[in-house]
Amino acid sequence: MGVLWFNEIGKQDIPLVGGKGANLGELFRNEIPVPNGFVIDSKTYRDFIEKTGIKEKIEKELENLDVEDTETLSKVSQRIRKLVESTPVPEDIKMEIKKAYEQLVRMEGSKVYVAVRSSATAEDLPDASFAGQQDTFLNVDGRNLIRYVRKCWSSLYTPRAIYYRVQKGFRHEDVSIAVVVQKMVNSEKSGVMFTSHPVTGEPLTIVEAVFGLGEAIVSGRVTPDTYIFDRKKRKIVDVKVGEKSMMITKKNGKTVEIELDEKKSKERVLSDEEVIRLVEIGEIIESHYGNPQDVEWAIENGKIYIVQSRPVTTIKKKEGGVEVAEEEAAEAEILVRGLGASPGIGTGEVKVIKGEKEISKVKEGDILVTTMTTPDMVPAMRRAAAIVTDEGGMTCHAAIVSRELGVPAVVGTKKATQILKDGMTVTVDGEKGVVYAGAVKEVKKEERIEVAASAPLITATEVKVNVSIPEAAERAAATGADGVGLFRIEHMVLGLEKHPMKYIREGQMDVYVDALYQGMKKVLEAFYPKPVWIRTLDAPTDEFRAMEGGEDEPIEANPMLGFRGIRRDLFEEEHLRAEFRAIKKLVDEGLTNVGIMLPLVSNVEEVRRAKRILIEEGLPLNKIEFGIMVETPASALIIEDLVKEGIDFISFGTNDLTQYTLAVDRNNENVAYLFDETHPAVLKLIEMVIKVCKENGVKTSICGQAGSYPHVVEKLVELGIDSVSANQDAVKAVRETIYRVERKIMLDKLRKL
Ligand code: PEP
Ligand code: MG
Repeated sequence: MGVLWFNEIGKQDIPLVGGKGANLGELFRNEIPVPNGFVIDSKTYRDFIEKTGIKEKIEKELENLDVEDTETLSKVSQRIRKLVESTPVPEDIKMEIKKAYEQLVRMEGSKVYVAVRSSATAEDLPDASFAGQQDTFLNVDGRNLIRYVRKCWSSLYTPRAIYYRVQKGFRHEDVSIAVVVQKMVNSEKSGVMFTSHPVTGEPLTIVEAVFGLGEAIVSGRVTPDTYIFDRKKRKIVDVKVGEKSMMITKKNGKTVEIELDEKKSKERVLSDEEVIRLVEIGEIIESHYGNPQDVEWAIENGKIYIVQSRPVTTIKKKEGGVEVAEEEAAEAEILVRGLGASPGIGTGEVKVIKGEKEISKVKEGDILVTTMTTPDMVPAMRRAAAIVTDEGGMTCHAAIVSRELGVPAVVGTKKATQILKDGMTVTVDGEKGVVYAGAVKEVKKEERIEVAASAPLITATEVKVNVSIPEAAERAAATGADGVGLFRIEHMVLGLEKHPMKYIREGQMDVYVDALYQGMKKVLEAFYPKPVWIRTLDAPTDEFRAMEGGEDEPIEANPMLGFRGIRRDLFEEEHLRAEFRAIKKLVDEGLTNVGIMLPLVSNVEEVRRAKRILIEEGLPLNKIEFGIMVETPASALIIEDLVKEGIDFISFGTNDLTQYTLAVDRNNENVAYLFDETHPAVLKLIEMVIKVCKENGVKTSICGQAGSYPHVVEKLVELGIDSVSANQDAVKAVRETIYRVERKIMLDKLRKL
């Protein structure tokens, strides 16, 4: 063993070649033209550490390592990685790898650059990707191959990989690593293909194509050609030639951009034959996997390669009879439907924007339509009469920010950017989640009964508000809320110039601390002296990757279950310290209306360590409140132990608590119908936590989306929750609900006397 070619690998070989290697082998064997390559199997790595005698050294380093001691963990990781990367590879192993590479060159008939990827394996785990870092090195020159193979091997010992293995109870020696070496394609044309229609699931293959490398499509900077092939009629039924102002290509292994002249930019990328050939390959992949695929392809020297294939999450038609019946009230044509994410009605001219660079297209009163908004788009979101997105759920960027800006929004329409065209006039109903053609005046106004402004409702249960963008703080405070039950700082951080860790790594901790301080100050001042609970960063890797300096964010199969929340901040401790330093500055200036809240807690140690760091940073726990979010079933089940650590409050993050309790991904439309914050299991956890907290004098609150739903709030008040933090637009309705429920409870009591 040692080296296995793709055509020798099948899915049963996962223990030897890892998931990534096995998948490539599967495709190759089924005659899908993936770029050729080989896998240096996991036994080779073991051979390497045994023959060179570094196995014992590694084991010794890891023996009795306290992975919670971040500094030591990082030093041990560095030492092991250096050892692996600097130990000469025994001659026989080296020869085998070199021979394989030379054979690849012979087969391809020219100089070959390769992609070198690690593919972690573990004896009895189908997916061991967490067990080692999934490093990938692109455009590796064959002369440097051994160096990069060692780098992949050493990625088995990143601090994160070591930490995870210990946390999950896996023995380091049970995990190994294979390395995939695959020819890089320098394509003259490339693109993506949906083997079936991604929205309706019809047998229509959609191919998007650009000149050069596919990165141009991903970047959103060129409009690709679109070809639609009807698989029933067996013919191309639509061709749209896009304007491709530039192409990305490789020169001597480096990626460069080339401007295309007017003529070339309007040229059709694919011939009919090429489209048909792609469709045929797509059909083979679809029938092999048994479901529609989202395929990345490339053409080099006229030959088609498949670079990647993954299942399309096909969108099923949801319209049930009831919904259709309701629509009859409105005579206007419904163009798209989605989730009503921010209430209100907006009529205006559609402006479809592809990215931050196009935001100037959106003028005051336009309807901003995009795939998903980003922090860079906030200025345009402010100008818009309404916002419509293809993607997202009730807690996506577009939903949260538009609610705070008070702009109507419909999210998760799946197809708004395809159906709505620049210049169309549409009416957006942000409550119903509908976009109508034309200016529809008869769309019903909100029917909520206005309570006289002069008679504010006084409730025993406090009504707070959630804030995400500091600029919206004044508006949030004007609701009369009793404070901020959740200040989500992610949106503010995502809007900064670069990734937080880039500031820190580049010695600009002060600049970052100051940015946090400025944003936080706005919110604290707007609410002073009412309390503002600032939540420490809860940054999922997928959202932070787009930032400058975010390239190092690990690629995770399940970012929701990954490197986020307090676990991440304890791993990147300097970051947590930066947050505490910003808060310390505010407290020192007399803004003591601040509370600190930790996200995604699931262990007692997390609270203990965060508290220790907080004290080290000089924050006075006698002056400010300190609490945690209860948003994992673990935290609810060990609430007694968490309370013992000394916390002032807890707040239910029902978005995550529901997701983790029911095993329903909160961002996945396919299972959205199962997402239910009032599921008995979720309510049981909430009830249990409130009871324990009450017995121990710990305040309870809710800041998840469910805190904005009157029917959930009703239950929570009955259970005795101390405060509810709602989205800005829901504060009023929530206050009314609480008022009514509290009066009912009192009346019931009186009647029993
Ligand atoms: C929650 O999980 O309910 C919550 C409020 O946090 P986020 O939505 O930011 O994950
Ligand atoms: Mg959460």
